[in-house]
Formats: sequence, structure tokens, C-alpha cells
Amino acid sequence: MRNLILALTLSSVTLGLAADPIKVLIIDGQNNHKWDITTPVLRNILDTAEVFQVQVSTTPPKGSPAPAWDSWRPKFSDFAVVVSNYNGELWPEPVRKDFEAYVSGGGGFVCVHAADNAFPDWPEYNRMIGVGGWGGRNEKSGPRLFIKDGKLMRDTSPGKGGSHGPQHPFPVTIHDQEHPVTKGLPLVWMHRQDELYNSLRGPAENVTVLASAVSEQTNDAEPMMLAITYGKGRVFHNAMGHADYSMLCRGFYEVMQRSTEWAATGLCAATAALPADFPSADKESEVKLDGYPKLTPPAPKK
Ligand code: ZN
Repeated sequence: MRNLILALTLSSVTLGLAADPIKVLIIDGQNNHKWDITTPVLRNILDTAEVFQVQVSTTPPKGSPAPAWDSWRPKFSDFAVVVSNYNGELWPEPVRKDFEAYVSGGGGFVCVHAADNAFPDWPEYNRMIGVGGWGGRNEKSGPRLFIKDGKLMRDTSPGKGGSHGPQHPFPVTIHDQEHPVTKGLPLVWMHRQDELYNSLRGPAENVTVLASAVSEQTNDAEPMMLAITYGKGRVFHNAMGHADYSMLCRGFYEVMQRSTEWAATGLCAATAALPADFPSADKESEVKLDGYPKLTPPAPKK
């Protein structure tokens, strides 16, 4: 009887742990993109993985007076991972210091698309994301990264950081088959219509480029997914995700789910199963979500 009780206790403890959701905080509120349309897609991506518990923290709108910012104090330490859908005004210093301590202390961070445009003048943020674009970034921000013959190249020549051509679907090439986020993914898969960022520049410390896409502007394989170590923290930088129709790609869903779990735990234990409708090298795969896309994609151009 005692053994039975012990076994029951152990199994319930084990089940309890397995059922513990990974707490995720999405930050939005300012962006030169339609964050109010894309945050619900990000939520759907995380909710449908059935391992995350998601909260959203929305900053004050652009131009808000100081008191509005004084009351925006997200408690990062309550979460295993922070997902940023934010590109706007500099956060107040106490929030910046909290965020630096959170990530360097082992917190997870996932940077989505234009979140890598944010904060050109916040050095620690740029160390977290590795590379970023626009906002006056140039060679002083750090090298531009690209992949050549499977190797990571660092271009330190003068030039601005951040550019893209017209939107179009594009093939994503995986460069690291051992990383938990990319393990088992097709080596090349067709992403849905998106902006293909190129010439991102930054400190690029402790960076692994997991996937790239060839830009029609640079003719180079530009980083699309980067894994960065910042102190004890794991950062995943996803350059894709311009609009809802870009995110409604089964490949983007899978990468977002895996990278959020990885940034939180270092593993993709709950999210690694490859969906049957994952895109192939030449065929994209749309995720159907009621009411979406809300945005109208411009005619794709090469
Ligand atoms: Zn964009």
C-alpha cells in the first residue's frame, strides 16, 4: 500500500511537471508594422502549440507622457521567455535594466521581424539580437553577416544596416541541422510572401546563423534565423514575419513554436514534431486562421 501511494504521488508529480505551461510574455504597442493585427497571430501560433501560457503587455502609444510610461513595468522574471513584436520609442531606463538583467540571468528572448529595427542606441539590446537594421545603423554598429559556402562571413565595409526589396515568397535554407530549433526541418523550404531583410548589422557576438535566404538586393545568403547567447540567456532572432500573411506559413508557425520553447528551456521537447503540411522546397504552406489574413499582400515581385 505504501508503495502504491508512493507510486501515485510520484506519477502525479511527474504529470504535474509535464503539464506546467511555459510562460510567455509578448510585448507590443508600437511598431511601424501592424502589431495589433500580428500579435493575435503570434498568440495563435503559441496557443496552438498547447505548451505555452501567453500574456501580452502593450506599451503606451507613441508620444505618451512620462506618467504613462512610469506605469509600464512588465515583470519579466515571471516569464520563461519574452517575445518582442515591438519597434518604437526607447523603454524607460528601469525597464531596460530589468530586461538586461532578465536575459543575461538566463531568461529567453525571441525577436520577431521589425523588433530588430528597435533601439539602435541601446547597446545591450543590440548585443542580444546580434544584428539589426535601420535607425541609423551602419558599419559603426558592427559587421554585416552573410553565409558563403556554408561559412559565416563578417563584412565590415562601410554601408547602412538594413534593407529589403519588394515582398515575395522565398526559399529558406537551413545551415545547422543539430540545433533544436532547426533539427529535422527540410534543408530548403518555401516561406510565404514576406520582406527579405538584408544587410543587418550589429555586434554579432556569440551568434549562430541557423538559416538564411538569398536577397535579390545583395545576392548573398542573408541571416533569417539566428541563435545568440547573451550571458546565461538564449536569444532567438527571427528576421521574418512582416505581416499576418507572412506569419500564416506553416514553416513560420513551426519555427516560432520551437524557438520560443528553445529560448525558454534550451530544448524543443514539446514542439519538435514536424507537421505533415510543412512547406517543401518549392511549395509554400498556408495556415488557415479564421478572419485572416486581414492585411492585403501587395502583388509579389522578384
Ligand atoms: Zn516589415
